[in-house]
Amino acid sequence: MRLLEDKIREHGNILSDKVLKVDSFLNHQVDTELALQIGQQFYRIFRHQPITKVLTIEASGIQFAMATAMAFNVPFVYAKKKKAVTLQESVYTAAVHSFTKQETYQVCVSQAYLGPEDRVLIVDDFLATGAALIGLVDIVKEAGAALVGVGCVIEKCFQEGRELLEQKGVDVHSLAKISSMAPGSIQFVPGDDE
Ligand code: 5GP
Repeated sequence: MRLLEDKIREHGNILSDKVLKVDSFLNHQVDTELALQIGQQFYRIFRHQPITKVLTIEASGIQFAMATAMAFNVPFVYAKKKKAVTLQESVYTAAVHSFTKQETYQVCVSQAYLGPEDRVLIVDDFLATGAALIGLVDIVKEAGAALVGVGCVIEKCFQEGRELLEQKGVDVHSLAKISSMAPGSIQFVPGDDE
């Protein structure tokens, strides 16, 4: 998505060869027009699939899940993060290891909001190690729902996330695919018009 790549080039802050800071427009302060366009782009990619729910994880995926859910005219659900590993009968849970925070936490979704009747599109801000998205995939499976695919705003292709998701048979689409980066330079996978 050209607009997104331009925005990353102009306003992204590359902290290292692994970490890109985009909090001036994506995941702290949010460019709402860009967020809406991201939702519409995910709609264009997945529009041929009957989707009943969009699923994300708090907090940084929420604005993109909402924009996508609005385009599909369906609700979105965000998995909540819980530190304590307390089992509750009424929630689906999965363990996620955070790449940026270097800690493991539980995510949970109420069983009231996801079930076998649902066809789910998962949306998140970044695809890096894939841990967060795999946690959501596990929750969809636990719910007995059908997973339509995964939409990521930014993918760091040099990390293993896509491979791990594809090994699970997940259809992954990302709007900006970074092939490599270092402070002062960033390369995107060329010729990708998603
Ligand atoms: P994962 O490693 O599980 O694919 O990424 C989990 C989460 O870490 C993402 O949803 C995102 O919030 C955060 N994350 C991963 N890589 C980056 C990065 O380079 N920059 C920022 N700002 N967040 C990241």
